[in-house]
Amino acid sequence: TNNPRVAVVTGTSSGIGEAVVKKLCDLGHQVLAVDFNPAGKAVAEAAGAAFFEADLTDADACRAAIDDAVKRFGSVDILVNNAGIQHVSPIESFPEQKWRQIIDLMLTAPFLLSQAAWPHMREGGWGRIVNIASVHAQVASPGKSAYISAKHGMIGLTKTAALEGGEQGITANAICPAYVKTPLVDNQIADQAKLHGMEEQEVIEKIMLKNAAVKRLIEPSEVAEMVAFLCADTAGAVTGSSWNIDLGWTAQ
Ligand code: NAD
Repeated sequence: TNNPRVAVVTGTSSGIGEAVVKKLCDLGHQVLAVDFNPAGKAVAEAAGAAFFEADLTDADACRAAIDDAVKRFGSVDILVNNAGIQHVSPIESFPEQKWRQIIDLMLTAPFLLSQAAWPHMREGGWGRIVNIASVHAQVASPGKSAYISAKHGMIGLTKTAALEGGEQGITANAICPAYVKTPLVDNQIADQAKLHGMEEQEVIEKIMLKNAAVKRLIEPSEVAEMVAFLCADTAGAVTGSSWNIDLGWTAQ
């Protein structure tokens, strides 16, 4: 029951975004992959998607990405806000510039992209916004103030979009994963191993999976499966909610 749609996915040159692009292409959708890393072009084209290079901390670049999808494919029906970065530092010494960059990329860009895509979804009477948040949209950890603030904010944006889209056929949902096996996490594992003088496996078990009931990292494809479900025609009643894929982290 899935009609082919036009999807815009951000943060697609690796990790979760790459897996989401592949899944949506496999389902027969027309996909525009958006990333500031030019290497994302080859990644997108290998999956059968088009590519638009944009630094999403720039408001005009956000609007240009949606314009590009409309120019190529005629509309935007699905928006997956996924691009994200991390910076770890206590509040006392957290660089203001890093704070602003993280809020711009992970909260303001999803707002601007939703705003730009909205008229196209409304005109089609059908839309799906999926925001890739985090377990850190539900709980905090020390040292990640900007990331955690952006992700908590993303839940507020999701709920508001759900209320405003309800009578226009537009749904909005968030997905909240714990640690997923991506370059973003590989870098954290390597850093923590150096910092604590531990083996990488020990970092995974003792730090990353400390709060997990299921003791393994999540695969990017597992997140992509949930994106596919939330974007399906059959998920029209699902809106305004947060979907944890957190290995049981928040169950305790
Ligand atoms: P990743 O580093 O593999 O991918 C992030 C992508 O965002 C990259 O392609 C990068 O080039 C792109 N990007 C970064 N800055 C950008 C900018 N200014 N403009 C455009 N693109 C930019 O990381 P990932 O783990 O796949 O993360 C994807 C999303 O999932 C992020 O929002 C992250 O917070 C979230 N998330 C990840 C995990 C995890 O454990 N990996 C857990 C929960 C949530």
